[in-house]
Amino acid sequence: MKYIDEFQDPELARRLLDDIHATVTRPWALMEVCGGQTHSIIRHGIDQLLPDEVELIHGPGCPVCVTPLEVIDKALEIASRPEVIFCSFGDMLRVPGTGRDLFQVRGEGGDVRVVYSPLDALRIARENPDREVVFFGIGFETTAPPNAMTVHQARKQGIRNFSMLVSHVRVPPAIEAIMSSPTCRVQAFLAAGHVCSVMGVGEYPELAERFRVPIVVTGFEPLDILEGVRRTVRQLERGEHTVDNAYARAVRAEGNPAARAMLEDVFEVTDRAWRGIGVIPDSGWRLSAKYRDHDAEHRFSVEDIRTREPAECRSGEVLQGLLKPHECAAFGTLCTPRTPLGATMVSSEGACAAYYLYRRLDLPAGPTAREATPVV
Ligand code: SF4
Repeated sequence: MKYIDEFQDPELARRLLDDIHATVTRPWALMEVCGGQTHSIIRHGIDQLLPDEVELIHGPGCPVCVTPLEVIDKALEIASRPEVIFCSFGDMLRVPGTGRDLFQVRGEGGDVRVVYSPLDALRIARENPDREVVFFGIGFETTAPPNAMTVHQARKQGIRNFSMLVSHVRVPPAIEAIMSSPTCRVQAFLAAGHVCSVMGVGEYPELAERFRVPIVVTGFEPLDILEGVRRTVRQLERGEHTVDNAYARAVRAEGNPAARAMLEDVFEVTDRAWRGIGVIPDSGWRLSAKYRDHDAEHRFSVEDIRTREPAECRSGEVLQGLLKPHECAAFGTLCTPRTPLGATMVSSEGACAAYYLYRRLDLPAGPTAREATPVV
């Protein structure tokens, strides 16, 4: 398949690995920000092919994983109402809230539907004018533009029975929070290529300079990741800390201007809680005042729902790179994809699920476990 197969070429992968092995002289800790990259790294065994000196830390880049428990509880409350058709992507249905998930709400008679696009939810609203249709809008800068466009269309078309439960998050403030943590071990970042294809790279030079970390925009296929690691290690060995784009076939410096304009119109920046991490200032988006009529939190008065995260799940430490999934005592025993205790085991992009699916059950606990210290 074009644009896939040529980025999985074993011979080219070997050459990149040889270059990395020849360049490394001392230990380095790199964080891949995106859950899709984590999945690819574990699936292809890239972390096991790298020199022992290069450690990949799996960052908080899975949208399902970082959605806070209280937002799940708000979704459960809204979805339970008889007048509501609650629409969501499928991976949110199994994320445990307090005591139950959206599948259970559906089993109890709630009208919970899996959709493949926010526009499907808008169509359902148009076809059911006597019902309230709510779409669960979560994710990073990648899923935010179509969600913004859908709310924009709802307003333009006068579809008043459509609203969105929004929990969008932004990557650059998370990088800032990770680097500001006293327990931070991260020395460089593989920035998420798809996020940068929307937002560009304009927010990164200041972060790279302030924290003196290389930030290399990286794609998702094995060669993309190896090239990102190669460029990052080269910078680290030279004592450099610049922003570099290793995913130029998809990312332009300015990103996607049309998508950014839509985001600016529909959303406004807000503080946002990240599951297991806590509130990170300016790290999220909510609907702006102009679109408040379509804000499900406001429409269904669930703004005041507050939930404490369960203590037994250590996904917060996983998401901060302080713990590898297999170092959690519940991993593979109490907690599996069929019986997830935390969101990092539910989502296909979650680090715990990736370790479980690709049989990293037998890895011994390594030296990376740290005392849990919240980022903020
Ligand atoms: S293995 Fe399960 S309990 Fe442990 S951190 Fe991951 S999701 Fe949480």
